Amino acid sequence: MEVRCYTGGNFAQNGYVAWCEATGQCVIVDPGAAALDMVAAIKAGAGELTAILLTHAHLDHIEGLGVIRDYSDAPTYLHPADREMFDNLPAQAAMFGLSSPQLDPPERELEDGESFRFGESVFKVVHTPGHSLGHVILHAENDGLAFVGDLVFAGSVGRTDLPGGDYQALFRSIREHVLTMPGGTRLFTGHGPETTVEHERTTNPFLAANYGGELA
Ligand SMILES: [Zn+2]
Ligand SMILES: [Zn+2]
Repeated sequence: MEVRCYTGGNFAQNGYVAWCEATGQCVIVDPGAAALDMVAAIKAGAGELTAILLTHAHLDHIEGLGVIRDYSDAPTYLHPADREMFDNLPAQAAMFGLSSPQLDPPERELEDGESFRFGESVFKVVHTPGHSLGHVILHAENDGLAFVGDLVFAGSVGRTDLPGGDYQALFRSIREHVLTMPGGTRLFTGHGPETTVEHERTTNPFLAANYGGELA
């Protein structure tokens, strides 16, 4: 699997296109403000977009969804516990002093533990609440990488003060589902640079035993 990152917008959000090199099939993870660049790259690479996968339904991760849907009929996937937030996109935008149109609902649901396939690539879907109720991460075990959305970042963790946020749940999700991956697993995050499980385990100040780790 080849991963390309597209960053943009007020929140410097990272959206991704993941390609199966063997078949040319690809998926988009979190179409944010740089969605037009994603479409251009897929067109240029003659990729076949098969799905749009959302780690969660915060404004910055879905604001480019309309752009992608104008280009492709590929279905959108979201965990049902984030559906209410998805449906409240205009209210989310208003919280940040922005405006956004309502979006048509996601066509499909992501389910904890399911395997999602495109081309010869496969993601395991893992429900990881804490940053939002329906947050998921996408773990491509065979490729040694994961899309972790806003659960954990290089040197930081996701905020828990937005609706549906839960500090204890966030750390539980990180401990049980991120720190248990092989250390070399590459983590593609919703904001900031790529990192690895081992790097965060050893250097992330929020994951030191005397901080969040012992409270949950
Ligand atoms: Zn978020
Ligand atoms: Zn975000």
